[in-house]
Amino acid sequence: MIINAIELSNFRNYELLNLKLDKGTNIFFGDNAQGKTNILEAAYLSATTKSHRGSKDRELIKFKNDEAHIRTNLTKKDIPYRIDIHLKKNHSKGIALNQIPIKKASELYGIINMVFFSPEDLNIIKNGPAARRRFIDGELSQLDKIYMSNLSKYNKILMQRNRLLKEISFNPQLKDTLEIWDMQLVNCGNEIIKRREKFVKNLGQILSEIHKNISGGKEKLEIFYEADVNSDQFESKLLNNQIKDLKFMQTSVGPHRDDISFEINGIDVRKYGSQGQQRTVALSLKLAEIKLVEETVNDTPILLLDDVLSELDSNRQNYLLNSISNIQTLITCTGVEEFVRNRFEINKIFKVSNGTVEELE
Ligand code: ATP
Ligand code: MG
Repeated sequence: MIINAIELSNFRNYELLNLKLDKGTNIFFGDNAQGKTNILEAAYLSATTKSHRGSKDRELIKFKNDEAHIRTNLTKKDIPYRIDIHLKKNHSKGIALNQIPIKKASELYGIINMVFFSPEDLNIIKNGPAARRRFIDGELSQLDKIYMSNLSKYNKILMQRNRLLKEISFNPQLKDTLEIWDMQLVNCGNEIIKRREKFVKNLGQILSEIHKNISGGKEKLEIFYEADVNSDQFESKLLNNQIKDLKFMQTSVGPHRDDISFEINGIDVRKYGSQGQQRTVALSLKLAEIKLVEETVNDTPILLLDDVLSELDSNRQNYLLNSISNIQTLITCTGVEEFVRNRFEINKIFKVSNGTVEELE
């Protein structure tokens, strides 16, 4: 799939922008704080309706304005689509697909498949499990609507169950209502566990292959799903932990505590990997994500690379740029020297300065 054009009005530091993109590699370069990441953020919003940095809608609207618009024209398997996002300061956003308003953001999911790669992603192996769960959830939600709906239900039920655990400490007879929440939590939770299991298995095969190539065949990388609880035991464990949960007023068992582990030649990279090894695994993981999307939706995703190249040594840069030559990529960087020096193919170069974008010939 390809984004042909992005139009912005009053989005971040852009008053008006009309950007025509190439179907290959698009580079946005410029000094710090000029608006490079803002462009990727707008593209990401068109796919997910959310900011990749977790910003609120009102923060995305240009200072001193009340609304902002993002319009994206794309082509997917030769079919054109138009996505409009209308951000409002004091109301929820409006979304339209092909000029028809849609009510739920989830209806937009899966129209554009996007892979965002930022320097923080390079820390996914050494960070805590929450970052790795975010990775699985973000990916699976794009690929699997049933997963997404179960995840969103699970999170709501979990919040309500935790609230109830607190209320029971003041009002013990409420304890009888716990069972209703437990049942729902187990139903959604088990669906999540099963789908994560399958996802990690599929991803693992691709990941091992990619990593073998990056490491020149020296390292064998394996990935394992570390479920906090297996689906056939969730219900009984929840019941067994009830006294503990009531004491700490928190749900102590369930997929909200899952993790994935990475092993190189049998050694846990999260704990024992060198910084370089952890970063290489993170890079392999992103590349595996791209491949998995390709295999699942039978189309190439759009790749957004925010300031990532300067964080990689030239070997890994080469590997990355060579493996993404067939997909549309939006890259931000402060300088373009490395591209010119390494003769990487660039299809369009844009210079970004202070909310304006100029295409260089
Ligand atoms: P870096 O190289 O440091 O990552 P960048 O070019 O990616 O920089 P962005 O994050 O895209 O920078 O843009 C930051 C600029 O956008 C800052 O100057 C900031 O003040 C401005 N900005 C952010 N939000 C808004 C907003 N709501 N209204 C107006 N300007 C904004
Ligand atoms: Mg930036």
